[in-house]
Order: sequence, then structure tokens, then C-alpha cells
Amino acid sequence: MTDSLFSQIYKGQIPGKVIYEDEHCFAINDINPQAPVHILIIPKKEVAKVSDASFEEIPLLGHLIYISKKLADLNKLSNNYRLVINNGAEAGQSVFHIHVHLLGGRSFNWPPG
Ligand code: AMP
Repeated sequence: MTDSLFSQIYKGQIPGKVIYEDEHCFAINDINPQAPVHILIIPKKEVAKVSDASFEEIPLLGHLIYISKKLADLNKLSNNYRLVINNGAEAGQSVFHIHVHLLGGRSFNWPPG
């Protein structure tokens, strides 16, 4: 199986800067930011989408949310930010390797587009 775009960035096979890393995940800045802060939090394990996640991946999914919170704090987002996970092409997913979008630094509308 070929590495996902995000795994290729993590491995240095294509350009991109890892701005955070731990045992289970890493983070990069989104190449096409939709807010002043737009970070992608990505598990090292490649799971295509949330709907493919198994019971064993519950801690990993929780970890991604917790690290999103830590990165929000580090970026001084003042407890106001949006976490987004697109699941499936019709929901806007374009890279099929689970990732949490951390968006902040501006106001957001609801419902999303
Ligand atoms: P999604 O559409 O939810 O799958 O999100 C994929 C995100 O990856 C989009 O917001 C893209 O802008 C972002 N993206 C695509 N290519 C790169 C790249 N080379 N480096 C950083 N972010 C990327």
C-alpha cells in the first residue's frame, strides 16, 4: 500500500514541516489555510476515515482531540476554536488518512457549508 500524502510528508518524501510530534500522531500546517491558525493533527497509523476506525482505535481518536486542544493552547486560541473531521468525499474529505482540522484566530459561522 502506498503511503498517504500525510505519511509522505511525515517521512520527508514530499515537502512539508512537521510542527508537532509524539508517539501516536504528528501535526502540520494546512497548505491552504482557512483561518489564521489551521493545523492538521494526524495519527501515525494510517486509518482512511473515522467510519473505518475500530474499537481498538478509541484511545487514538481521543488522543487526536486531546492534542488538538494542546495545540490550540500553544497557539493562544483563547478557548475559541473549531475542530473539524471530514468523513468521506461528500463531506469534504480529500485526503484519506484521518486528520483533525484545528481552526482558530477568527469567528466561525454555523451551520458550516
Ligand atoms: P480534508 O479535505 O478534510 O481531507 O482535508 C485535507 C486538507 O489537507 C486540506 O485542508 C488541504 O488543504 C490539506 N493539504 C493538502 N495537501 C497538503 C500539503 N501538501 N500540506 C499540507 N496540507 C495539505
